[in-house]
Amino acid sequence: MAELTLSGITKSFGATTVIHAVDLHVADGEFVVFVGPSGCGKSTLLRIIAGLEEVTTGSIVIDGADVTGRPASERGLAMVFQSYALYPHMSVYKNMAFALENMGLKAPEIDARVRRAATMLRLTDYLERKPKALSGGQRQRVAIGRAIVRDPKIFLFDEPLSNLDAELRVATRKELAGLHAELGGTMIYVTHDQVEAMTLADRIVVLQSGRIEQIGTPLELYNRPDNLFVAGFIGSPR
Ligand code: ADP
Ligand code: MG
Repeated sequence: MAELTLSGITKSFGATTVIHAVDLHVADGEFVVFVGPSGCGKSTLLRIIAGLEEVTTGSIVIDGADVTGRPASERGLAMVFQSYALYPHMSVYKNMAFALENMGLKAPEIDARVRRAATMLRLTDYLERKPKALSGGQRQRVAIGRAIVRDPKIFLFDEPLSNLDAELRVATRKELAGLHAELGGTMIYVTHDQVEAMTLADRIVVLQSGRIEQIGTPLELYNRPDNLFVAGFIGSPR
């Protein structure tokens, strides 16, 4: 089980406040998408959840434990970034196994986890390749695999598809939806792409200028937007 509660989260960089009093509850197993225009604070909010950025005020509770101020490594999360940041000199297998070795897991357990993730992500035939010998979509699947093998309580994705071309984006999006169905984990997914938000989300959080404009299911936002910004930003459901 992995639920998350943000209460009164504010974040300032110097004199500039970029996140304003954000309250949000994410239920166990939920797929929540943060959507909003560039610069609205999506990445900052995700990095705050991840423990990569400190809050100015507010608290973060995961499964009943207050993790505000605790380091990323103690939060049970795994994050997938827009830039894949794979280790170029390591094989696909090693890219996925590396963090597990550092966690002190035994070789048979590491092997089982890597092979399970590789099967899920159709990477079994590429385990001995280096990242440069992979396509963009395959590289992104390795990045997702690196998150899966850690068996996190919560997955955080920051625009994971934005470097892919349109066709691959659609295919990878469908894979992500399938993966969520298979893994059943709690997922928080950042995008500026309304179509991604509408197709992936159980609930969408619409952000503008560091504030939550509205939270709802894709249909709720489409049928009953609270304001013109939400109406204009949210596309049609499909
Ligand atoms: P998004 O991911 O929605 O595009 P970000 O969370 O990256 O937006 O940024 C939100 C705002 O915070 C932007 O105005 C950005 O310039 C500012 N910001 C983000 N990180 C920093 C930082 N380390 N120092 C100062 N300002 C920052
Ligand atoms: Mg961003």
